[in-house]
Amino acid sequence: MSTSAQQILQAEEDLLHTYNRYQIIFDHGDGLYLYDTEGKKYLDFFAGIAVFALGHHYKDYDDALKAQIDKLIHTSNYYYNEPAIEAAHKLKKASGMDRVFFTNSGAEAIEGALKTARKYAFIRDGHTDHEIIAMNHSFHGRTFGALSVTGNAHYREAFEPMIGGVKFADMNDIESVKAQITEKTCAVLLETVQGEGGIHPADPAFLKEIRKVCDEKDILLILDEIQCGVGRCGAMYAWQKYGIVPDVMTTAKALGCGVPVGAFLMTEKVAKQSLVPGDHGTTYGGNPLACAAVSKVLDLFEQNGMIEHVNLVTPILEKALDGLAEKYDCIIDRRGMGLMQGLEFNVPVAPIIKGCLERGLVLINAGEKILRFVPPLVIEESHIREMTEILEESIRSVYGK
Ligand SMILES: *Cc1c(COP(=O)(O)O)cnc(C)c1O
Repeated sequence: MSTSAQQILQAEEDLLHTYNRYQIIFDHGDGLYLYDTEGKKYLDFFAGIAVFALGHHYKDYDDALKAQIDKLIHTSNYYYNEPAIEAAHKLKKASGMDRVFFTNSGAEAIEGALKTARKYAFIRDGHTDHEIIAMNHSFHGRTFGALSVTGNAHYREAFEPMIGGVKFADMNDIESVKAQITEKTCAVLLETVQGEGGIHPADPAFLKEIRKVCDEKDILLILDEIQCGVGRCGAMYAWQKYGIVPDVMTTAKALGCGVPVGAFLMTEKVAKQSLVPGDHGTTYGGNPLACAAVSKVLDLFEQNGMIEHVNLVTPILEKALDGLAEKYDCIIDRRGMGLMQGLEFNVPVAPIIKGCLERGLVLINAGEKILRFVPPLVIEESHIREMTEILEESIRSVYGK
């Protein structure tokens, strides 16, 4: 038995079995490529779930982290630290929001956003028992609050009861949202582009109308930009392309480009009427190491013109995927925004993904029949060509023409 096969067996005895993992142990990365422990090379079109925007082993980023490790790693939120001061200021500027709370993950950012909405409405109405409207097919994370607003019964079923007062509406169906609004509603929550649910961007008219209704009724609009944010959709945050501003937003995944960090942000108006000292906290959130990563990521995005680059390569990726969709009858739709794209098949995509891995391409699905493309943002045309060739071979070997 090979060493890696033995290690995988060991892992399966030690780790809680909550994932059916691919039989690969990744060892190191370089730019767009990953290498497993047996030296096999893979083109990475997954970026560790839309995380590693800068590509692997990016020298300036690695150096910034190493320098911070040698200085200070953790202090808690009882004190200030320079990386957090800098990261918060840069994130405010990049997002156009007014106040930042750093978390350790996406789910925690959602938890903070939900608490903000309930506190806001508590101050607004002088009582509790408020309602949140979330979307069907949404994904917001695995903790109880985040799971409660995740519109996928399969994830929730065994863990009921969820937090109360959550109602679900349909993405891009404004009437279904309006039908759920009552005087108890404190927030409408959606992903600007649904990720796990199958890569569904919000329609501009839908989002504008939600903004209008929320304004009329003093309801908070919370946008989850954990997957679609940080440049992925061709703007720092996808909502910036819609001509609206949320009251609260969440960000994570690519924010630290691999170091676990997230944040929820809000406007000054919401900050003035919601969480105060004692309402919320975290031991690690905003620690110097995580914030050194955020700060460096935001610097590099600006220095390297990352958003412009995304907008430059997006049409190339779209054209390549449209070409496949035209050529193969098993592909029925291509949709997405920027470097967050989905190809919908009329057959399961699992065997295609397996075929890609065998041929040295890391891809993932978003639902049973949808291939998801969330590569590092630094991809070039040559990587798109290489990906398309491998993917096409895999499709042909599984489903023929
Ligand atoms: C991944 C994701 C989350 C959860 O983030 P974690 O860091 O895994 O807790 C929440 N919302 C969206 C849209 C996501 O893609």
